[in-house]
Amino acid sequence: MIMPHVITENCILCRYGSCVDVCPVVCFHEGPNFMVIDPVECVDCGICVDACEANAIFPAAQLPPSLAHYQKLNESLSAVWPLVMEASGPLTSADAWNGAIGKWQHLVGAPKA
Ligand code: SF4
Repeated sequence: MIMPHVITENCILCRYGSCVDVCPVVCFHEGPNFMVIDPVECVDCGICVDACEANAIFPAAQLPPSLAHYQKLNESLSAVWPLVMEASGPLTSADAWNGAIGKWQHLVGAPKA
């Protein structure tokens, strides 16, 4: 069974976009300051994991419990955010926010927990 990969909290305010460049299929959807993977289109190759400068991508089956809610979030937001064919480049805030804690509260365009 194919399990999708999931983008998690440390992408928020970084959105480097390197994952888009290496992915063999088109399955990334971009929001204002975060990015998600469409679980239907992801073929679970894992290439994006090492490409992510923020270490924000996990196989769904290996999500840390504290990040488990991101699986549902990737699924729901990929249905409403636009598909991206090419990365638009890191956000200007990317390096300053990479690794910061408590980024969830800064997520734009998604329901709050
Ligand atoms: Fe794309 Fe592979 Fe990452 Fe899925 S696991 S998002 S198919 S690079």
